[in-house]
Amino acid sequence: MSTRELTDDSPLLCHRCGKILAPGSTSDGAFFVVRIEAFADPTPPAITGIESLADIEREIDQLMDDLDEKSERELMDDVYRRLTITLCRPCYHPWIDNPAE
Ligand SMILES: [Zn+2]
Repeated sequence: MSTRELTDDSPLLCHRCGKILAPGSTSDGAFFVVRIEAFADPTPPAITGIESLADIEREIDQLMDDLDEKSERELMDDVYRRLTITLCRPCYHPWIDNPAE
């Protein structure tokens, strides 16, 4: 994990209110770094209605069509995402109490 975003020269902003954050400050500029990891349900999909080889071929064709329509990036985003955000103190406390709001 790189800490580039914390040492970069560009100002660090609160992802919620846009306030400039001051690394190393303990008063007004105090902020929190929040790492979010999101996984798709890892359970393999239940395949139903397969009774013959033709059914399996149809399923695979369908799957291939679905894959063609999505970019590699979209497919990755469907499965796994990780992001790091920074929040100022006034934004952090209400957010961490109710992150799914
Ligand atoms: Zn904020």
